[in-house]
Amino acid sequence: MPRRNRSSRRSRGHSDPPGAGVVTGWARSESAPDGEWLVRPVPGAHAAKVYRCPGCDQEIRPGTPHLVAWPADETGSVADRRHWHRACWEARQRRGPTRRR
Ligand SMILES: [Zn+2]
Repeated sequence: MPRRNRSSRRSRGHSDPPGAGVVTGWARSESAPDGEWLVRPVPGAHAAKVYRCPGCDQEIRPGTPHLVAWPADETGSVADRRHWHRACWEARQRRGPTRRR
């Protein structure tokens, strides 16, 4: 059975980008001003390590629900993914630490 079965039609504009989300199974793709990202939520029960959030430069403690994001155009390098506080990820899209317009 196909992996992309979970077609919640929440995507705005683009439908089912080829390749995105397939690699890890259940990551969703997000379009941001700085590119396309794959985002995967991490429930608190699965957060067993301390991560450093690139948004606020503070630690994400074990047991904290957060999310993992990595560039969609580098679907091969899962090692490149970064852990974010959920709020920081969303704030990032508004503020944008790197402004290249
Ligand atoms: Zn943060």
